[in-house]
Amino acid sequence: VNTRTPLIAGNWKMNLDHLQAIAFVQKLAWTLKDAGHKYTDVEVSVFPPFTDIRSVQNLVEADKLELAYGAQDVSMHDSGAYTGEIPGGFLNALGCSYVIIGHSERRQYHGENDEIVGNKVKAALKHGVVPVLCVGETEAELEEFGPSAVPVAQLKKALEGVSQDAAIVIAYEPVWAIGTGKVATEEQAEAVCAAIRVALGEVLGDAAAQRTRILYGGSVKANNIAGFMRQPNIDGALVGGASLDVAEFSSIARFQ
Ligand code: PEP
Repeated sequence: VNTRTPLIAGNWKMNLDHLQAIAFVQKLAWTLKDAGHKYTDVEVSVFPPFTDIRSVQNLVEADKLELAYGAQDVSMHDSGAYTGEIPGGFLNALGCSYVIIGHSERRQYHGENDEIVGNKVKAALKHGVVPVLCVGETEAELEEFGPSAVPVAQLKKALEGVSQDAAIVIAYEPVWAIGTGKVATEEQAEAVCAAIRVALGEVLGDAAAQRTRILYGGSVKANNIAGFMRQPNIDGALVGGASLDVAEFSSIARFQ
């Protein structure tokens, strides 16, 4: 039996300041509540910019909102002379449940390779924040190596040295489908997520492979989420653009 609670995660990227974040989160919480959404059935998480997190925490705690939140990146270091970086301990102190690690935009624009990504995964785990490890191939890699070779290799490298009982989430995000409107088919996404689950079994053991949620990401919208959620190895979605619209994101969280 699949006991994995679906997770719908909204990556705001560099959008919505701390005031806009408050208005957005309030509206999102009301909309989900109005729709009769049950957090225990489908977990919903937002990933605002660092500067919004304190505001989101205050709101979630004050109004006891059933909403998780996390950061979009984390330092591999604990503290010290690393100008501009944010350590996992600070995220934990702000109540972050999750942190996105190795998003393709970080890999592409900030030179994050699998080794750095792996160190960040370990830093998040050390500080009690669940890493949402992003893997995925570019269009050129898809043509050269086929669909699952690159994401599986990225996964194996990033999880080296990670304990079998670590709580992690994987997001399979084909780079060619991010922000492009070019969505993977359900079958394509399922095939890669199934291969990722096999790889998880090889690296962390079968129990971890069965327990770990694997999300699909790449141009997910309200009108295509249901098909992904019907796939046996897809346990949710990492949503970029469509997570910035309350109505659209709430519909995605309700798979409708
Ligand atoms: C993302 O950046 O994680 C993403 C999936 O973006 P989009 O939904 O806009 O394709």
